[in-house]
Amino acid sequence: ANEEAAASAASALRDTGAPTVFDRILSKQIRSTVVYEDKKVLAFRDISPQAPTHIILIPKERDGLTRLSKAEERHEEILGHLLYTAKVVAKQEGLDDGYRIVINDGPDGCQSVYHLHLHLLGGRKLGWPPG
Ligand code: 5GP
Repeated sequence: ANEEAAASAASALRDTGAPTVFDRILSKQIRSTVVYEDKKVLAFRDISPQAPTHIILIPKERDGLTRLSKAEERHEEILGHLLYTAKVVAKQEGLDDGYRIVINDGPDGCQSVYHLHLHLLGGRKLGWPPG
């Protein structure tokens, strides 16, 4: 079990196509605070919030979208739906003074979970440029 945990920790930082922690959130094996859900998208609070509001939005079906750079034409609809849903959730969270949407891609983008996701950050004045 230790070897399994170590392998899973190592693969968490690479695009292997292996299941990720987000699959376990989707299947409710891991508890999360869901703030929005529809047929295609799940939005839940980040376990390590970087702002007073920090929500992760994911497609329920990963369908090859481990990261944004793997996107193909067939993903246009879900990508648009994720972005529109981020706006809906921001409104629901009362982020009336603005917010930021982030997609980390790959090692240089500091991506750690290879199931495409949007970060919705707000509730304070955010710095620019990001680190
Ligand atoms: P990335 O670094 O890949 O862009 O973002 C992954 C995000 O998922 C991180 O902000 C991290 O805190 C969050 N995260 C990782 N594991 C869990 C978890 O088990 N539950 C929740 N709610 N968020 C998680």
